[in-house]
Amino acid sequence: MSDHVDVLIVGAGLSGVGAAHHIHSAFPSRTYAILEARESSGGTWDLFRYPGVRSDSDMQTLGYRFRPWTQAKAIADGPAILDYIRDTAAEAGIDRHIRYGHRVISASWSTEDARWTVEVRHGDDTVRMTARFLYLCTGYYHYDGGYQPEFPELAKFGGPVIHPQEWPEDLDYAGKKVVVIGSGATAVTLVPAMTDKAEHVTMLQRSPTYIVARPGEDKLANQLRRLLGDRLGYMVTRWKNVALATLIYQLSRRRPGMIRSFIRKTTVPLLPPGYDVDTHFKPRYDPWDQRLCLVPDGDLFRAIRHGKASVVTDEVAGFTSSGIRLKSGQDLPADVVVTATGLRLLAFGGIGLSVDGREIKLPETMAYKGMMLSGLPNFVFTIGYTNASWTLKADLVAEYTVRLLRHMDRNGYTQCVPVADPDVTERPLLDFAAGYVQRTVHEFPRAGSRQPWQLGMSYANDVVLLRHGKIDDGTLRFTKTHKRVVA
Ligand SMILES: Cc1cc2nc3c(=O)[nH]c(=O)nc-3n(C[C@H](O)[C@H](O)[C@H](O)COP(=O)(O)OP(=O)(O)OC[C@H]3O[C@@H](n4cnc5c(N)ncnc54)[C@H](O)[C@@H]3O)c2cc1C
Repeated sequence: MSDHVDVLIVGAGLSGVGAAHHIHSAFPSRTYAILEARESSGGTWDLFRYPGVRSDSDMQTLGYRFRPWTQAKAIADGPAILDYIRDTAAEAGIDRHIRYGHRVISASWSTEDARWTVEVRHGDDTVRMTARFLYLCTGYYHYDGGYQPEFPELAKFGGPVIHPQEWPEDLDYAGKKVVVIGSGATAVTLVPAMTDKAEHVTMLQRSPTYIVARPGEDKLANQLRRLLGDRLGYMVTRWKNVALATLIYQLSRRRPGMIRSFIRKTTVPLLPPGYDVDTHFKPRYDPWDQRLCLVPDGDLFRAIRHGKASVVTDEVAGFTSSGIRLKSGQDLPADVVVTATGLRLLAFGGIGLSVDGREIKLPETMAYKGMMLSGLPNFVFTIGYTNASWTLKADLVAEYTVRLLRHMDRNGYTQCVPVADPDVTERPLLDFAAGYVQRTVHEFPRAGSRQPWQLGMSYANDVVLLRHGKIDDGTLRFTKTHKRVVA
């Protein structure tokens, strides 16, 4: 394989495979490669192996725009999502372009040559590749371990302590008392899933999260597919789900009290009579200040009803050999502890970036349309929505990149770069109250107070901006390099 390509994609997860599909379909003769640090594709959906791992968005919006999701389940299991990504890669021959075990360490742009040079760790070697365009699909968190707070006296605990990001294949929890620490999407997935073998599973949370029951299968989506065929049925359901999610999100922002009481009203009948809903399921924040957790067919509530799972809202004071001491003074017995305490965010796969020998400090850059960075030429990245499915944004970023490359080809441009506007007020790139975001968001680029620097959290607006918006908008600067580039 050549060491120079037109488009170099980093990361072979959901976004990287999707990006390659868009680029390859639009420009069949253009060269591209995907560099992947791990030995396998799929990213998140290959890494996470805990019991019950699944999406918490519907697959009609987490799936690619170009590839209908044809399975009956709308909330899909991790392995089914992994197959979907890998099948997409295999059918389009994308897998032949993936170079596994290639971790990109740094990327430097040369204006004179109008190209990126990336340094890549491959085994014990460092190899170099060059590219006209750099397209980062590196996700948003560290792959080498999740976030675990310092728990006092953890070493005293006699049983296994497991983070969901590093799930041991041979973990035997049959007949055991399991305590899952956390209240996010991973905790609410694990708790009902582990009741299959565990004696009892307790979710220990410091404070509650909004949890909403939703059917695992979308009957209307399945009917639409039967009636309209896979492609059209998928598109209609996709837009239906986008509209519904947007409506709920907007109502949550504008009428939080109404959504709060709606969630409470729908939750109460799913719990045992007299259950203390307000202690365990009434968050201190408004809906969508943090991501809302979906539970398919109310599985978490069912496990609580059947006495197989319970929720304790309290804090860890320390560990004993046989469990957890809580701040309330209560002892929580445990044979196995799972710390579903989150991820460690990482911007752009930890890749060091420089332009013409000048190191780029990410917090000094501003994200243009949530997909390029001020001052970085021929550079695109994918970070999905926090209030909707990741892939909705990933597809739009890829579509925009195709339009951008076409525009450059038509006009003979070799370089495009968003030029920062000093009058724009800075905003955080990830505007989300969740702890894992707040811990690290200062290491990320900034967003701005107005377009095209504003963080787009509306798919419909982004469709207008990215699919149909003007490419030469006065903020992107295009130039031609006169030096003859030797490929
Ligand atoms: C448990 C879990 C469940 C989730 N569920 C949902 C959901 O239901 N809906 C939703 O919208 N989102 C969900 N997300 C967010 C999820 O990460 C995205 O939906 C999506 O999978 C991200 O895909 P990606 O390809 O952009 O990133 P990733 O899946 O993280 O893949 C990034 C790839 O880039 C590679 N990489 C990183 N750095 C480098 C480097 N320097 N060099 C080379 N390769 C590199 C990684 O090895 C990895 O393979 C979930 C996340 C987690 C952790």
